[in-house]
Amino acid sequence: MPSCELCGKEALLVVAEIEGGEVEVCPGCAKYGVVKRRAGKPQVLPQPLPKPEEPEYGIVADYALLIRSARELKGMTQEDFAKLLSEKESILAKWEAGTLKPSIETARKLEKKLGIRLIELDETISVKLDKGRSDELTLGDFVKVRKRK
Ligand SMILES: [Zn+2]
Repeated sequence: MPSCELCGKEALLVVAEIEGGEVEVCPGCAKYGVVKRRAGKPQVLPQPLPKPEEPEYGIVADYALLIRSARELKGMTQEDFAKLLSEKESILAKWEAGTLKPSIETARKLEKKLGIRLIELDETISVKLDKGRSDELTLGDFVKVRKRK
């Protein structure tokens, strides 16, 4: 049992700020200062739960072509299609021109309406995932490859 820094009494101590310093004291002495926290174990902050690894998604590079050809397959004009998506026709025109990338949220909607795939795992993420493997290539491997030539 730890003992109070002020009176020496063995008790469950608290950390109190007394005269500008933090001391571990018994509840009796704590009244001379401002109680900060329970003493003993270092205060463990609740660990924020690690965020579930949320894969990052990106829009496929040829989204413009995909959107346009899917719309044309359905025999819709840009105007019809914009209405169907409740988007501005000018926005749709930009998607199809490839000058504006739809947001992931919009892309999901487009995927549903058109039956196409617009969302893919972000390339930079896939690179990260593959990195582990490429690290296994040692210098030795590299030399072997070169000698083979
Ligand atoms: Zn005390």
